[in-house]
Amino acid sequence: MQVQGVLPFSAEETNEEIFARIYGEIARGKSVPAIVCIVRPYVNTMGKINLAAGKLEVRLNSLIAGAPAPVRESLAWILLSKLFRRKLPPGHAASYRQYMNRKEVRRTHQLVRQTKGRKYVSGPQGEVYNLDPIFDELCLKYFGGLMQKPQLGWSKGVARWLLGHFDHTHNAIILSRILDRECVPRLAVEYVLYHEMLHLKHPVDHRGARRRVHTREFKVEEKLFEGFKEAKEMLKRL
Ligand SMILES: [Zn+2]
Repeated sequence: MQVQGVLPFSAEETNEEIFARIYGEIARGKSVPAIVCIVRPYVNTMGKINLAAGKLEVRLNSLIAGAPAPVRESLAWILLSKLFRRKLPPGHAASYRQYMNRKEVRRTHQLVRQTKGRKYVSGPQGEVYNLDPIFDELCLKYFGGLMQKPQLGWSKGVARWLLGHFDHTHNAIILSRILDRECVPRLAVEYVLYHEMLHLKHPVDHRGARRRVHTREFKVEEKLFEGFKEAKEMLKRL
């Protein structure tokens, strides 16, 4: 008998292979149908499974589809146990939850949801600050005037957890509306915008196991911002 929770897996297995293997284990004796895994960023992270016309269609959230193999295996157990109305072997629910709860994963998921909900970018003119001239100034001062201007906008909500982000889908830099207030010094807004411009300049580094968003080069260049420490202090006080 196998020890539940430490089932064998191979890091090379594709999502289809994982689902096929576990399907075979749960539906002992039955032949395994053709399996298609579709990855979409907006699917519920729990995924969806549908068996019809001899085909098993699995819809996976991109967060999970790229997770370490044991996590994908746990999700396969969760979805297939549900499909077969079988009791879920212990360990899998916890393994999935643990992964989803990791701060980094939560943050990315939040970003995806935010992107999904926004149909258009607000535009650079906020109530206090206009990002357009600030971008032009920073572009000239730090990027030799060479950076192509993305869409610029303000977030809908006043998120504190995220002061700015670069939205690849819309090629847009979005700053939190919390920065668009009289009490926030312009330097703080400039710094957040500068940080996001650096993200445009330094695409995400996929080397190694972890996504490196702020590489060493990124951090070195970030410190070139005039008033770097001052701006960071200002943001801490928000
Ligand atoms: Zn960043």
